[in-house]
Amino acid sequence: MPGSVTHWINGKPDSASAGARTGEVHNPATGEVIALVDYAETADVDRAVAAAKAAFATWRHSSLAQRTRIFFAFRELLDRHTDELAELMSTEHGKTVPDARGEVTRGLEIVEFACGISQHLKGDMSENVSTGVDSYSLRQPLGVVAGITPFNFPAMVPLWMFPIAIAAGNTFVLKPSEKDPSASVRIAELLAEAGLPDGVLNVVHGDKVAVDGILHHPDVAAVSFVGSTPIARYIYETGTTHGKRVQALGGAKNHMVVLPDADLDLAADAAVSAGYGAAGERCMAISVVVAVGSAGDALISRISERLPGLKVGPGNQAGNEMGPLITAAHRDKVKGYIDAGVEQGATLVADGRSLVVEGHENGYWCGPTLFDNVTPEMSIYTDEIFGPVLSVVRADSYDEALQLINRNPYANGTAIFTCDGGAARKFQHEVEVGMVGINVPIPVPVSSYSFGGWRNSLFGDTHMYGAEGVRFYTRGKVVTSRWPSPDHGGINLGFPQN
Ligand code: NAD
Repeated sequence: MPGSVTHWINGKPDSASAGARTGEVHNPATGEVIALVDYAETADVDRAVAAAKAAFATWRHSSLAQRTRIFFAFRELLDRHTDELAELMSTEHGKTVPDARGEVTRGLEIVEFACGISQHLKGDMSENVSTGVDSYSLRQPLGVVAGITPFNFPAMVPLWMFPIAIAAGNTFVLKPSEKDPSASVRIAELLAEAGLPDGVLNVVHGDKVAVDGILHHPDVAAVSFVGSTPIARYIYETGTTHGKRVQALGGAKNHMVVLPDADLDLAADAAVSAGYGAAGERCMAISVVVAVGSAGDALISRISERLPGLKVGPGNQAGNEMGPLITAAHRDKVKGYIDAGVEQGATLVADGRSLVVEGHENGYWCGPTLFDNVTPEMSIYTDEIFGPVLSVVRADSYDEALQLINRNPYANGTAIFTCDGGAARKFQHEVEVGMVGINVPIPVPVSSYSFGGWRNSLFGDTHMYGAEGVRFYTRGKVVTSRWPSPDHGGINLGFPQN
């Protein structure tokens, strides 16, 4: 019998419309349906927003000390429950347990940032801007804010959002991916255990109905979104049309440039790790390696000799390095791209299509796949595949490699591998991408910086978390103050001059 996953509203499970519309949650390593998740109707979203709105009336007045204490307690609980969350995510998502643990750890960083919220909310103060007049700035919460998140990081991406939003005084409605919804509910339970008042964090599950309920709701002030580019664009356009502040992070096609002077063993290890980790289902995965000049042949042979050693299997079995894809439909789509790459003339160096994992024949498997001689017209180059498919494009020069990246519609992350500091510096200056790695293939910024891409990888003005997260979830106010004194100057109908 599959389990059930329901909404979390006002500090408790909410099954008011349980079973009316549900979705299947699969174990992608076995193909089994392990749970049914309730899909919210508009009325469920309205209930969650109403709970958040009611909670905001008091939460916004809570002291920074109270908020900070709750996040310190939450940090400890999250840390203590890392293994439990990792197992849960591995079962619903398919990623390996160590990889899932890493995801919790990166999310924990944002909680730690939120623990320092009193520092991040500090304003400025100028004394005597006019005689006896002072000016100071404040940042205040927006009200009810929402987060809509993708399947590939069921813990980390929600943790990019709500700790900063809530610590800044907002209340939150989270709509996690319907494909792996359990981690978000468990995290909400832990935050309640840490002392968060009811209604400050709410979780509603579902599909477009839930998302549209959020986007159209007049009491939702802002929406953070992470997911694919077409949906990110839709969220941005619909949310802003309805008067909301929106940051919508989209898909990616991350290029890794390898110059001939690079440490090729380091580059090959990096390409394999970043290309096939989490079966390529990471927005910062490397999907294109641009081998410049003589780097090509040596790099291809180094990458391909590493592939037979990769252990593919259920994410919860020790020793496995790569798990299955999220759904059967997604597996078929990824295999379709491999077919297209062959048809369009790329050289298939390693083919993962026929991989069978013994004892798990019904899992959604696709093995590590490597293409050489990929050209920019091929669909394996133009499209985000989001699977374990690495494409190598040969380029004659650094300039040709740079042009490829700067012309690509996606611009989430990129990396250069070289031992030449001057070349690396030139690249970081010239490349038009939001996050850049130098001999680092997955340059996900730490929590004191902010995460975000350019062009079709992000719609909106602010990146996620760090200082930009604080800015996104707050609005500025400037106070100009004078205290009564005998020399206030009397009546003056002119415009105030200082
Ligand atoms: P998705 O866009 O299909 O879904 C994301 C969210 O949007 C989910 O909560 C889903 O329920 C909702 N959604 C889906 N279709 C919708 C529709 N028609 N109308 C309204 N809402 C809808 O993305 P996914 O498959 O869950 O995640 C993978 C994608 O996310 C990839 O493209 C990946 O690159 C991207 N991603 C980007 C980042 C980043 O930081 N830029 C991080 C992680 C994932």
